[in-house]
Amino acid sequence: MSVSQLRPLSSKWLTRLGLLCLALAGLTMVFNYTYLSIRHDMELITAKQPNVFEVFYQRARILAPVRLAQFIDRSSIRTPIFSENRDALAYVYGYDFKTRERFAEIPIMPSVRDTLPAYQYVLSYPEVINLYAIFDDHRLLGMMPDNRDLPDRLLTANTVLDQIEPWFHYFGCASFAMTHTPCSPDEAQVSDIYTDTFTGRQTITMYFPFVLYEQPSREYRYGLTGIDIAIDAAFKDVLQPYESLNPTRTVITFDAVEPCRPHHICLSTSLMRTKAGADLYLKWSYSYADFAQKMVFYGPAFKLYLIALLLFMLTWRRIYTRLRALAHTDQLTRLPRRDILDEALLQEHDYLMILDIDNFKSINDTYGHSVGDTALAAFARHLHTSIRHGDTAIRWGGEEFITLYKGLGDEAQMRQTVARLLAQPLQIAELPVPITLSAGIIRIRDYLTVPDAVTLADELLYHVKQHGKHNIAYYQGQEIRLVREPTPPEAQ
Ligand code: GH3
Ligand code: MG
Ligand code: MG
Repeated sequence: MSVSQLRPLSSKWLTRLGLLCLALAGLTMVFNYTYLSIRHDMELITAKQPNVFEVFYQRARILAPVRLAQFIDRSSIRTPIFSENRDALAYVYGYDFKTRERFAEIPIMPSVRDTLPAYQYVLSYPEVINLYAIFDDHRLLGMMPDNRDLPDRLLTANTVLDQIEPWFHYFGCASFAMTHTPCSPDEAQVSDIYTDTFTGRQTITMYFPFVLYEQPSREYRYGLTGIDIAIDAAFKDVLQPYESLNPTRTVITFDAVEPCRPHHICLSTSLMRTKAGADLYLKWSYSYADFAQKMVFYGPAFKLYLIALLLFMLTWRRIYTRLRALAHTDQLTRLPRRDILDEALLQEHDYLMILDIDNFKSINDTYGHSVGDTALAAFARHLHTSIRHGDTAIRWGGEEFITLYKGLGDEAQMRQTVARLLAQPLQIAELPVPITLSAGIIRIRDYLTVPDAVTLADELLYHVKQHGKHNIAYYQGQEIRLVREPTPPEAQ
């Protein structure tokens, strides 16, 4: 493309480009608003979620592992019952790490409701899937709501106590002493999120160390209490937020920097803090398509945007005309400036008149420029009130004005209309004599351009200035006529 072919954009295209930019900016704001409101909802939802670690820390304090051990020791049912008992409230079970065998499975029947009430109370929460205590004598004693989740044998892994991470965490630092205190400063150790091998559920385990004195053996026992908490139940409210907010993927994780998947919008907020100070995060991610379709296009902001866009499109013509008029308004006279007069405006009218205030220079010279300004503004108002709705008055420059008339059928009607301007010269307080005008008026023909029309009318104006001023000239055929007949000499 040669340089000569590069043409600047027309103002029409610039306006369209501006409108497009405005629409896009609006859409960007809608996307941004939607994102921020989801963020806000996420904050609200997480704020409502109680701190699970805090709650279970309190619940764990009421568990007395010694009572669990005593219950199993005293129980008459020591042999595992490998059948489901429909009436059982829960099952107490025992494992031996050395033999790797389950040695006890005791159903808690409604008739023995008061057995181990603290364990039953904690287990009654739907998020608790397993409650147990690991003792240093290599027993694991626990309570579960359903015996189907109990394995027949212990898995071979992790059967050496020190190989169990929380055990090592609390007790691995020193050999056991009578007054042994756990070496970790944590009040409760929280496992990472893992899939429970028996139930297949995403689980977090909280561990609490204990030391107790066993009366019959007169020995100190020490160990860990474990609570397996199911993520899906404990974090139900944040995992399944209101239907409309449902993201493509919700994750609860201890990993602060889990990367966002490609082509996804990711939100992350700290959900709660464990006693040891680790933060658990809630992460929502939306695929771009889901975000746009489900969140933005069905959201309230987008509906408002569409309404605003529609209203804007409906009123744009009027706003544009008003803005254009403001941009083309002369400050002193409040009339439109000369650049509004184009061919289209000209052809909308029947007559064009150019007017010039008589002897204006002498007003300026005698009374000062500010009185001149006042006179100009007053004359503009006078002109404006003299025309009808649909007619146009323009400040052409200096003390010259143009008026455009519509609906003036014939010459007689035109003469009658403009004669009123001559009949009532404008009187203002600042000047002792009225302000008079000279003008030329022409009929607008299809073939006339703006410069042609103005030149023609100017010729008539010149004629008036040459013939006594304070009059309006027009063509009658080739003849120049005056609206106000000159006073015959004999009448003077
Ligand atoms: P004629 O009757 O032949 O029209 O004489 P005139 O004095 O009206 O004409 P001339 O064109 O000589 O003077 C016009 C004066 O109007 C000159 C200029 O200083 C003055 N003028 C133009 N614009 C303004 C304005 O905005 N404010 C004021 N106060 N004076 C203006
Ligand atoms: Mg002039
Ligand atoms: Mg003048």
